Amino acid sequence: MNLIEIPARRGKAARLRQGQSVRIINTTGQQVVDTWAFRADDIAELMSMEHSRVAIGRIIPAIGDTLVTNRRNPILTLTADTSGGIHDTLFAACDRWRYERLGCVGYHDNCTDNLAAALAELGLVPPETPAPLNLFMNIPVIGGNRVQICPPVSTPGSYVSLIAECDCVVAFSACPQDVVPVNGLALLPTEAHFEVLD
Ligand SMILES: [Zn+2]
Repeated sequence: MNLIEIPARRGKAARLRQGQSVRIINTTGQQVVDTWAFRADDIAELMSMEHSRVAIGRIIPAIGDTLVTNRRNPILTLTADTSGGIHDTLFAACDRWRYERLGCVGYHDNCTDNLAAALAELGLVPPETPAPLNLFMNIPVIGGNRVQICPPVSTPGSYVSLIAECDCVVAFSACPQDVVPVNGLALLPTEAHFEVLD
């Protein structure tokens, strides 16, 4: 086992070959992990939540669902989920403007900057900040229309596994949201972990 830490409030990226899996572990149980994927041979082709919702016919991927790119090619398939199956594909990654609107003064860590920093460690620049697969994020749709921000239902050590359908770069951000209860009622962002499996 080769656990890699996604430090609290930070991002981390890794390369996956086709057929390799990544297991994302909610170490503390209450930490949302924003997840992105980009094709290794063309970073402009990236995992797209809006295209994936069309492909899977629902707003939360389930085991067996294949997420697709902005060119509708398979990129990651969900193969295991012990977290309770609650994730989000609707919310944009947090960014400095989100925190400014929430009343934060000065710089606030955010998933958008974490994605850029994580890819920079691999010598890459994200072409944009795609809408992430927000693992463990609990955004129920109330009455078929309204969305609500709720704490994760996942438990410590629970995980999601994704298998790469092509050579790709995956990036994760341990979301630093500490204003609304995305990361639990304690409003305390924590670390998470992942491991790459052959
Ligand atoms: Zn975030």
